[in-house]
This record gives sequence, structure tokens and C-alpha cells, in this order.
Amino acid sequence: MDKEQIIKAGKIAQEVKVYARSIIKKDMLLLEIANKIEEKIFELGGEPAFPTNLSINEIAAHYTPTYDDDTKASGLLKVDLGVQVNGWVADTAFSLDLENSDENKKLIEAAEDGLKAAEKILSSKATLSQIGEAIETAINKKGFNPVSNLSGHSMEEYDLHAGITIPNVKNNATSELGEGLFAIEPFATSGTGRIYDGKPSGIYQLVSGKSIRNPNSREILEYITDYYSTLPFASRWLVEEFGTKALIALKQLEQNENVLQFNQLVESSKAKVAQAENTFIIEKDKVIKTSE
Ligand code: MN
Ligand code: MN
Repeated sequence: MDKEQIIKAGKIAQEVKVYARSIIKKDMLLLEIANKIEEKIFELGGEPAFPTNLSINEIAAHYTPTYDDDTKASGLLKVDLGVQVNGWVADTAFSLDLENSDENKKLIEAAEDGLKAAEKILSSKATLSQIGEAIETAINKKGFNPVSNLSGHSMEEYDLHAGITIPNVKNNATSELGEGLFAIEPFATSGTGRIYDGKPSGIYQLVSGKSIRNPNSREILEYITDYYSTLPFASRWLVEEFGTKALIALKQLEQNENVLQFNQLVESSKAKVAQAENTFIIEKDKVIKTSE
């Protein structure tokens, strides 16, 4: 683990969060928000660790604007952003109420309470069950449900979901968290608290470097490998670089199983969802929050 790079990524993420909160207004194009956030990350010396997720209302996660997206910011907006420095990631999210709704505000508080409750007991010795229970209890206390099939996760170099998942509900996992780099991310909803796979998101990830004959696809595969490695990327990033021929290449790369595309994640009762997230370095006797 490269602590120096992790701390640097976290500091940039903090600053970008403050910036994002200051610029986002109702009816702003999501495309403009994503571009501004990602430009800010570059300006501060980092790179986006994944496409900025701007998910509205019942979409819990994995909405990122396409290159020609005309969706405007509204409702309960989750802003989930990632910064990487040499492959080391800060993964952080917050939610905004853009319609002056009491329910939205309460949902946002519930997600933040869940994160705070986890933080309070966070240590290398905390069990996954204890963390999940703390999150669930805090969210229930506000009258809502946690999303049970979305979880926090461990991270490694160029690896956003490195194997350990941290449940947002009480569970039977008695194993201790241990040391490492972790993102904790409770989601609170007024619905049943299950999400399902929605439409394709335009968020992709490299899974295999196996050869592909088409020269256009091969060029794009090389670019993906060089610039994003195994971290998620957006179709719009490739359209910016190569024009819309990148979309044809992505389709072929998907068919050839070089890349996989994530789906949008939608709450199953179409109820609103709020999210809060921060990244933590867990050491034997110490916890460092990198992204707040
Ligand atoms: Mn995130
Ligand atoms: Mn995450």
C-alpha cells in the first residue's frame, strides 16, 4: 500500500467535493457537472478513478452522463466521485436535495448517520457484522432501510473492488475487517432496500487484453489499457478522444469480452435513495479518513 499516494488522492477528493457542492444547481446538465468535477480532479494533480456517478432519485448508483446526455440535475442527486494517484484511489460520495423536500433531506441524513455510525466503531478488529449492524441501526432509526445488496469494499492499486465487501446490514460475517484501504458507503431508501440491474450505464472496465482484429477496436483497447488500466472508464471519455467511432469499438470490445459494461443500479420499488461514502486507511491501531 502506498500511503503517500492514498493521502494525496484523498486530499484532492476533499477539495473536489467542496468544489462540486459549490457549483451544482438544480437544472444544470449532468454532463456539465461531470465534466467540471473531472476537470477539477486533473487540475489538482489527480486523475478520475472512475466516471463521476450522478444518480437521481431511485437510481442508486452507476448513472454517468453519455457524451450527448441532456439530463438535468434534479430531485435527490447522489454525487459519487473517485480520484486516483498512480492507481491509489479515494472513493467518496455525498447526496444533494435539489427540490427542497423534507423526505430527501431525511434520507440524506440517514445515509450520513449510517456512515458516522460505522466510522465510530471502525478498526482493524471490527467485524463485518458489527459494521453492517451499526449502519442498519442508524438508518432504521431515521425510519428508512439500508440498501442490502450494495456494499462498501476494499481497494488495492488499480483495483476499486478488491475482494472484501462491507455489508450495509446486519449479517453473519464474523471475520474482522483487518488492515487495508476501504470505502464505506451506506445507502438509505424509503423503499424495500434492494436494487436491481437497470439500463447499461456507459461505464466500462477492462477485463481482458486478448487480441482483437479490427484496427479501430485495437487502437481503443490500447488506449484503455494505457490510460485507465483496470479502473472503470466512461464511453464519453473515449468519444472526447476519438469521436463516436469509439462507441463502435466499445461494442466490439464488449462482444469480444475485452471490456464489461456496468448496469445502472435501480431501487426495486422505485423509491428514492441517498448515499454517503468515504475512504479509510485502516492500520493495526489507527484509522485515517482520507476523503473528508
Ligand atoms: Mn463511490
Ligand atoms: Mn465505493
